[in-house]
Amino acid sequence: METTTTATESNRPIKSEPLVELRNLSLEFHSRNKIAKAVNRICLEVYHGETLAILGESGSGKSATALAIMGLLPKPGGVISEGEIFFEGKELVRLSETERRKLYGEKLSIIFQDPLSALNPVLTVGYQIGEALRKRKSLSKNETKKRVIELMKLVRIPDAENRYKQYPYQFSGGMQQRVMIALALAMNPKLLIADEPTTALDVTVQAQIMRLLKELQERNQMGLILISHDLGVVAENADRVAVMYAGHIVEIGEVETVFKNPAHPYTVGLMSSIPSARQNGDRLQSIEGLPPNLADPPTGCAFHPRCSMATDLCRKKEPLLEEIAPGRKSACHFAKEVLNHESI
Ligand code: SF4
Repeated sequence: METTTTATESNRPIKSEPLVELRNLSLEFHSRNKIAKAVNRICLEVYHGETLAILGESGSGKSATALAIMGLLPKPGGVISEGEIFFEGKELVRLSETERRKLYGEKLSIIFQDPLSALNPVLTVGYQIGEALRKRKSLSKNETKKRVIELMKLVRIPDAENRYKQYPYQFSGGMQQRVMIALALAMNPKLLIADEPTTALDVTVQAQIMRLLKELQERNQMGLILISHDLGVVAENADRVAVMYAGHIVEIGEVETVFKNPAHPYTVGLMSSIPSARQNGDRLQSIEGLPPNLADPPTGCAFHPRCSMATDLCRKKEPLLEEIAPGRKSACHFAKEVLNHESI
């Protein structure tokens, strides 16, 4: 597929053809007597070299979206009920099993929040990082070892030649996450999904891991989907942000613009919960109430039971995600008023 390179305001190069595109994607989780609508008709694109953050509380649908892109929805139970996922113009949902396996191992990769549960405790880290190389690139034992040690050095695991033979329990949390990154990068993927990659780590290690991911991304112009509930991590690392609530994208735009001037009351609530040095010991703001039950969501706008701006219109009519400025969308009947800080 022909692509052309353009530049954003920040001179960040992006391609005009998306690397990944979700079109009206809906996901459901079926259990014995109920269906939870985890994701509702979402549309998203990620470009080469771009970091798109998906931000939201637990249960907002961000991890389910990541699992769907990776073809990892839990079976039985997890279902793509509607929509399409394109990767480099190829529709993923209807791929044959052989095509799917080839693509997922080589071009799309994911790292999870908890490296210890993702790593096999009885296999050495060297063996685990090398597994994909052995199977997919048919490298010899020596070639695999050489490449694995290179990867371990790339993610800055010290003394890689010796640590190659060690087991996951012999690594700290930060080093285990580096092993996961080496494993995810073994095949030089074009898209990396990082699902809460630093949540289990302390702040210093968190910053190191994010810096490492950014450096590795720049090397290969890899697309990065960063799933997080941490506003600081998103603000520092993403180019654009999609805010999810109850399975809907409620706001999307350049991260700086969205954080400075949100256009949805839910995003406003999230921003108010960021601690600030100017708060002088004031209590942190939080969003009253809880996210809805996805098996029985509220009518109209899913956020209305928690929204201080809700009207009858909100209770009856679901707001659509609509453009409010170039590259900026919000799903709120009163997005313009929110942008202008009216009645909020
Ligand atoms: Fe609040 Fe209404 Fe906007 Fe929903 S549509 S976020 S309830 S103002």
